Amino acid sequence: MRIGFDLHGVLDSYPTKFKAIIKLLEKTDITFAIVSGPPREKIEEELTKLGFEWSDFYDIYSVVDYLYNDGVEFDETDPDNLWCDDNIWWDSKARICQQHDIDFLVDDSLKYKPAFKLTKSEFIHVSEIVGKCKE
Ligand SMILES: [Mg+2]
Repeated sequence: MRIGFDLHGVLDSYPTKFKAIIKLLEKTDITFAIVSGPPREKIEEELTKLGFEWSDFYDIYSVVDYLYNDGVEFDETDPDNLWCDDNIWWDSKARICQQHDIDFLVDDSLKYKPAFKLTKSEFIHVSEIVGKCKE
């Protein structure tokens, strides 16, 4: 089984909780991935700042990189906030999870959820895991 985590609103909002979950589950055959919007290098920088171990993750999937490789055009007016057609963007994480055999995606944005109905992957809202936990 493979579990994907979003970065913003998930790993960066609850780093202590998710580090503990990863540490516990790494004793099993479950693997972990990051599925997040920014370019891969930005995700890598942020993970390092948050103190996550590289070896904890099987791979990192960037929505921006994935869509660029697919030939999608972005509005690059603000380089720190690239954007493209909404429908393409909100379907992207379900497509990434389907392609990379990610069984569950933990994310804070429900806008990604509808596209998961068309896949064998499952969307889990972060609140289902952290409850009312505050870090
Ligand atoms: Mg998010």
